[in-house]
Amino acid sequence: MSLNFSFSSEHELVRDSVRRLCRDELAPLVNEAEETETFPRHVFKRWGELGLLGVRYPEADGGSGLDKVSDCIVREELSYMSQAFASSWSAHTHLGIWPIWKVGTPAQRERFFVPALAGDKIAGFGLSEPDGGSNVRALKTRAERVPGGWKLNGSKLYITNAPIADFLLVAARTQSELTPEAISLFIVELPNKGFEIHKLRKEGIRASETALIHIGDAFVPDDCLLGHGEGTYPVILASLSENRVGVSANALGMARAAFDAANAYAKDRIVANKRIGDYQAIAHKLADMSAQIEAARWLVYYGAWRVDQGTLDAATASRVKLVASETALAVSEQAIRIFGGAGIMREYPVGRIHRDAFVYVIGEGTSEVQRNIIARSLGFKP
Ligand SMILES: Cc1cc2nc3c(=O)[nH]c(=O)nc-3n(C[C@H](O)[C@H](O)[C@H](O)COP(=O)(O)OP(=O)(O)OC[C@H]3O[C@@H](n4cnc5c(N)ncnc54)[C@H](O)[C@@H]3O)c2cc1C
Repeated sequence: MSLNFSFSSEHELVRDSVRRLCRDELAPLVNEAEETETFPRHVFKRWGELGLLGVRYPEADGGSGLDKVSDCIVREELSYMSQAFASSWSAHTHLGIWPIWKVGTPAQRERFFVPALAGDKIAGFGLSEPDGGSNVRALKTRAERVPGGWKLNGSKLYITNAPIADFLLVAARTQSELTPEAISLFIVELPNKGFEIHKLRKEGIRASETALIHIGDAFVPDDCLLGHGEGTYPVILASLSENRVGVSANALGMARAAFDAANAYAKDRIVANKRIGDYQAIAHKLADMSAQIEAARWLVYYGAWRVDQGTLDAATASRVKLVASETALAVSEQAIRIFGGAGIMREYPVGRIHRDAFVYVIGEGTSEVQRNIIARSLGFKP
């Protein structure tokens, strides 16, 4: 029996190479991308060349053959640099293609999954709707049978990557009953005449492009229904659970970035002949922040390990996500306080990190939804 709280040399290699990529190639792109609220598409191609879009997929399927721990290391390091970049990566490499890898036909994998791993096609995932964010079971987008395929009608809200995507996985109801079994996933190639994509302006992750989509009589051919038939709701749930661990690593990267900035500032900033870090009030904040991050770090990597063991359950995923996302929010708020007025200035990263941190106490299921899932596992009916 052994309990090992360390990363392997292979994991450290992954971390070093992503750090180098961020420092040398990606970080110089971040400010302009944030200012223009535009994601630099060519970055997907570069990620593809480096094998960073298929980190956790087996080599036999075209991936890099690494584990979920490595996937989380990539997320943590990308997020340390920019949550907008990391979120676009996440929506593509997990939500947009994991279900195709899991239940797609060989032809669907060849047509969508393989080019997505190479960064030749950009993917996104359309589940949330104006009336169905937290309450996924209530989704209203309808898919009706027509000759040769399906006709989709409805709308999708807050869909990451939609303005730049080549295809989206779109959840729609194939039967009128409001049962989970009636929910299926369709692969929709873009542009599609029935898809009107309206880019949204956001306070957080500004460089990650997000859209409202109106879907009107959009034709989707039969071979783009995912899962050898109707009813892919369990696949959606499994995908969300794994991604809750994934985005927790995103949150961890943000928390670390906010802490490092505040820690450095506390050592530099002199007030009344004293480094502000030497005031106990500031030192205690930093002590608490470092402890919170350490707790979140090992919970996140425990979650990743559970994915790798094939034993992740929904409540564990929710616990990991709840702790990590709330940690990123709390730590980045404390970082702003430590910076004082400078924390509000764009010259420093902590304001942006705090805006970005809100995304993950909401996206992938809000903190309240995570608490509901955990409470249900304890036998309650919230
Ligand atoms: C930047 C960004 C990117 C996103 N990207 C995607 C994407 O790529 N694909 C996608 O499908 N979705 C995406 N989303 C949508 C995201 O998953 C939803 O915003 C989220 O699930 C919450 O849904 P909602 O916004 O409709 O909030 P609502 O469901 O309207 O919730 C509003 C408030 O009510 C609370 N609430 C709701 N129900 C309950 C309950 N039963 N018990 C207690 N409290 C409750 C919520 O916690 C919240 O505080 C994204 C969102 C953002 C902000």
